[in-house]
Amino acid sequence: MIEKSPIALESLLALTQEQLTDVLKSWGEPAFRAKQIQEWLYKHRVTDFDAMKNLSVALRQKLAEHYTLRSMTYSSVTGSKDTTRKYLFKLHDGRYVETVLIPANPSLYGGASDRLTLCVSSQVGCAYDCKFCASGLAGFTRNLSAGEIVEQIVQVEALAKDRIDNLVFMGMGEPMANYTNVTTAIEILNAPWGVGIGARHMTVSTSGVAPNIRKLADFPLQVRLAISLHGASDEVREKIMPVNRKYPLHELFDALREWHSKRKQHLTFEYILIEGVNDDLEQAHLLAKHAKPLHAKVNLIPYNTVEGLHWTRPSEKQQDAFQAVLLNAGVTATLRREKGHDIAAACGQLRLKQETDEGIIDSVIPAKRITIGGADNIQSPLSA
Ligand code: SAH
Repeated sequence: MIEKSPIALESLLALTQEQLTDVLKSWGEPAFRAKQIQEWLYKHRVTDFDAMKNLSVALRQKLAEHYTLRSMTYSSVTGSKDTTRKYLFKLHDGRYVETVLIPANPSLYGGASDRLTLCVSSQVGCAYDCKFCASGLAGFTRNLSAGEIVEQIVQVEALAKDRIDNLVFMGMGEPMANYTNVTTAIEILNAPWGVGIGARHMTVSTSGVAPNIRKLADFPLQVRLAISLHGASDEVREKIMPVNRKYPLHELFDALREWHSKRKQHLTFEYILIEGVNDDLEQAHLLAKHAKPLHAKVNLIPYNTVEGLHWTRPSEKQQDAFQAVLLNAGVTATLRREKGHDIAAACGQLRLKQETDEGIIDSVIPAKRITIGGADNIQSPLSA
């Protein structure tokens, strides 16, 4: 067994084929070694350099000195087969991320039937501070590397002994605030030499970081885009999503029109229904007006209770009435009565509990939000 270095090494799962080829070339190795290595990584899913039998011992040793194959450890799983399963992983720096496996969803994001969907995290914590969301409760810690994003899929596939069909960037974090790592991960996840998930089976979800939506519109892979709208007027949206002050609806919709003009894929609007906050039918009419010209589909999600937050979901009658307004206006609208409501499946809840239990973060009191160590250096993305 080749000894591992105690310091955190870069993950080999973070490299595209081009990047790995460049590294190997600089070591005097032929280009085809990159293909050989990535076959071990993604076809055979080896977790040890020693298993790479067609490489010399010296090259295996050198790889092990510079790179790691697994940078996070499986910590726990909540849920069971046939239900939503929530995996918690411990990162090399002791922080946690969660990844949620959702079985057999009838066509929420992908094609005719989404057999197995994985909801991945893109950051530890989140700086966007949406008032209803557990992920941002303890502030932002750091971006996940491309390797840590790719590894979530590789590890869950090994643990679940199954292949993922669809991927949604709807776990912890704001993927469009970690643009480079997220798009590099998407490249690796999509590549035939990599994980091999079709780009149309990947959905990037954003709270509305308009400039990076424009950037993603030019990204060559045909990924899908979901917008966490949650309010159909600035007045309502601003109350629950501070990002709306930086990128108000007119700016967000300028970016979405650009996306729509460049892309064939339909847009999805996520809309959490929160009682007394954004669930009145006037919002539903406005939402329909926004959705129609962009041919956007609306996913209505009754609010998932977060411990410590005081929001609740509207009655089923109100949920149905809200959906009916959209349907009557000719907008495709699904009402997702949340799977995983019982296992703290709203993003960020599980890691919040784990990190609080371990004393990494203080217990979060919603009225008085805390910042965690090191966060002082991070400029809020929302300050102008
Ligand atoms: N930052 C990105 C992706 C992470 S959030 C974004 O905002 O889209 C993924 C989805 O979960 C978002 O639509 C978010 O609004 C939703 N969400 C967060 N907290 C929730 C809760 N308590 N109940 C239901 N959905 C929630």
